[in-house]
Amino acid sequence: MTCLWCGQPLRTDPPLAGLLTWRPLTPPQLCARCLARFTPIAPRTACPGCGRADSPALCADCQRWESSGQVLLHHRAYFRYTAAMKAFIQQYKGLGDYRLHGAFASVLQLSARGAALVPLPSEPAHYARRGFDPVVGLFGHLKLSFWLVKADTAVPQAQKTRAERLLTAQSFTAQLPVHPPPRVILLDDLYTTGRTLYHAQAALRAAGYAGEITSRSLIR
Ligand SMILES: [Zn+2]
Ligand SMILES: [Zn+2]
Repeated sequence: MTCLWCGQPLRTDPPLAGLLTWRPLTPPQLCARCLARFTPIAPRTACPGCGRADSPALCADCQRWESSGQVLLHHRAYFRYTAAMKAFIQQYKGLGDYRLHGAFASVLQLSARGAALVPLPSEPAHYARRGFDPVVGLFGHLKLSFWLVKADTAVPQAQKTRAERLLTAQSFTAQLPVHPPPRVILLDDLYTTGRTLYHAQAALRAAGYAGEITSRSLIR
């Protein structure tokens, strides 16, 4: 095996941590040197509402979500949106390099026990252009529940200003199984304003889901 990012050979001995937990071990696909280029977010000092780094108290954005009547998602993200991560996203999503989809699989470990892991789907037009769904690619090593459908929107989120993103209209609908589990963890690649994830939460509620809803993303 070689590192997905630099192409150097990967050491194959499994990390000790993987042997000591009950979680299924996903072998790393990035070498230690490449993985170290990305900056993890320390959960203890992240915003309890959105997972923003270095904000141990509820941040101003989350206070606004709360005062607008939202039930906070208690979002958690794994990495900061640094230059290294922007380069990864540009290669993976921008250029559509699907080889990279498993780059963070060894880090993105979540249990589907008692919970549905629900990815936020691509718009149909984006899927057609790229040929794959970036979020499903990142989390594809997990047991996913495809409950959400997204309609095409006029302007992609990436081309909008912050204010325009916050005004985006709902484009998700949800279809629940007959007996949904008591918890849902929504999965996305990047948390920017939270608008998309709160729309996904609202779509689940509109479809009648009454359990707990939290969320995760690769990047904040
Ligand atoms: Zn490497
Ligand atoms: Zn926050």
